[in-house]
Formats: sequence, structure tokens, C-alpha cells
Amino acid sequence: MNVQVTHAHLPQPVLPSCPVQKLLRGQKAIVTGASSGIGRAIALALGNAGADVVINYVAGEDKAEEACDQIRHGGSRAIALRADVADEAQVQAMFRQTIERFGTVDILVNNAGLQQDANFEDLSLAQWNKVIGVNLTGQFLCAREAVREFKRRGVQAEISCSAGKILCISSVHEVIPWAGHVNYAASKGGVMLMMKSIAQEVAPYRIRVNSICPGAIRTPINMQAWDTPAAYDELLKLIPYKRIGEPEEIGRAAVWLCSDYADYVHGVSLFVDGGMTLYPGFETGG
Ligand code: NAD
Repeated sequence: MNVQVTHAHLPQPVLPSCPVQKLLRGQKAIVTGASSGIGRAIALALGNAGADVVINYVAGEDKAEEACDQIRHGGSRAIALRADVADEAQVQAMFRQTIERFGTVDILVNNAGLQQDANFEDLSLAQWNKVIGVNLTGQFLCAREAVREFKRRGVQAEISCSAGKILCISSVHEVIPWAGHVNYAASKGGVMLMMKSIAQEVAPYRIRVNSICPGAIRTPINMQAWDTPAAYDELLKLIPYKRIGEPEEIGRAAVWLCSDYADYVHGVSLFVDGGMTLYPGFETGG
């Protein structure tokens, strides 16, 4: 008998709550754009794993402070620092303040990002520059400050095998073209080769650089793709695993990638996407 799986009825699973190992004890992390969505979930996960965390935000101080409170509640330190990642002086001030407060930086999570969508012929230079400025230039500015600090300090074996970790939050759209979102896809394609080129250059200093490429994750950035049953059904056509991802799932991958358990993982784009990059249009044989 042919069994047809009707994906629309598969329930969202209850994620296992693993025992919290303090994999990142003693480490200091900056997470950009951490007052909401994936950045917030990564910041909480790093805090849970024992890291002290800077919650970077550009707007919404109250949400940033609320995330700090949650991290402090779990026993790690947390501070909220406002900075526009596309602004060189603000990024440098954020790193200076972090080093003043925490002593150093061991982990940078380049998460801040946005979309400004338009049909290509209507895409304005301002929309192009805004998205490239935050999603690509912002990651460059933060990564450069992180590498400067990692090289200045070097490896502290009692803290970590490496001198530092950079984790870029890219997207499946670093490899999947995206009509109507040319600026966004270009920014993430740029993140891919920026990440790999930095990784090649700084590896001899024991600095690890990797990316996570999320598929569809339930956050404010893509709410129109999941907040009605009809939109959610359309979205599932793109996801072989037939469910949306949760921000916490990116947080867990981030903890592993930033920990010494992943010490030999370098220059890698880790796709956390329920198979979105598996060409789901060919699911039925093409
Ligand atoms: P989100 O809108 O909740 O988070 C983005 C955060 O970046 C916000 O807190 C925003 O305030 C911040 N930000 C924007 N401009 C900034 C600036 N100039 N300086 C500092 N912070 C700034 O959306 P999200 O889904 O959590 O997105 C986080 C990252 O994940 C982004 O890089 C996004 O491209 C990527 N991503 C998300 C998905 C998804 O399905 N949600 C999929 C692939 C990649």
C-alpha cells in the first residue's frame, strides 16, 4: 500500500531539553542584534552554557534589558550595549566597552540583519545600501574588531583551545537565489566568501570562523511566511522536513560551534534548514 504522509498534520515537536553543560564557562561573547529572534535565542543559549554575554541592540532597549535579566537569572553576566553594526565608530566603541567590562571577547556572533524587499527594477539604491550595510559591512566591521582582540590576547588554554570564535549568521540564501530580495541574497552570498576568506587568513592564529545558515525560522523577520495557516502551508512546500524551525534550534547549533567540541570545524557553512537546500521541487522525482 502506498502511504502518503500528510505533512500539514504533523505536530511541532517538543524540543528535548538537554542537561545544560557549561561548555562555554569563562568565555565572553558579543551577539549582535540580540534583542529579538535568532540573536536573542543564541544569546540565551550562550549564557546558559556559561558565557558572559553582551546583548547588542540598535533599538528597543527594554527588550535588550529583558534578555540580560534572563541570562543573569541563569548565573552568567550580561550587559546591553547599543550600537549600529553598520557604523564603524559605534562598533569600535562597543568592543572597547565590552573589553572594559569583561576583560576580553572570546566569541563574536554576527547576527544583526534585515530585509528591505522590492522587485528588482524598483529596488532603490537606499534599500540596496541599507541591507548590504547592515548584513555584510556590519559583519565585516564586527569581525575585524574581534580578530584584532583575539590576536592581541592569543590562546588562553584554560578558557578555550582557540584564541577566539567568529560565528556569522548567514542564510540558505547564501546559495539559494531569491527573486524580489536581490539585496538580501547578495548580502548573504557576500557573507559566505567573507567568512571563508577570513577563516583562511586567521586559521594560523587559532581563530575559528564559521557560519550558520538558517532556513525558515519563526521570528519577526519572516512573520508573513508563517502567521496564517495558508502562508504556513505554502512555506512547508519549501521544507522537506515539513515544519518551521525555532530560534532555540539555532541557539543550540551556535553553542556547539562556539565550543571546543567543534574545535576542528573551521570555514564551514552549517545549514540548519530542515532540508530547504535539498531542492524540494524534485521531491516527487522532478
Ligand atoms: P529579527 O528581525 O528578529 O532580528 C534581527 C535583529 O537585528 C533585530 O534585533 C534588529 O534590531 C537587529 N538589527 C537590525 N539592524 C541592526 C543594526 N544596524 N545594528 C544592530 N542590530 C541591528 O530577525 P531574525 O530572523 O532573528 O534575524 C537574525 C539573523 O538571522 C539575520 O541576519 C537574518 O538574516 C538571519 N536569518 C533569519 C532567518 C529566519 O528565517 N528568521 C533565516 C535565515 C537567516
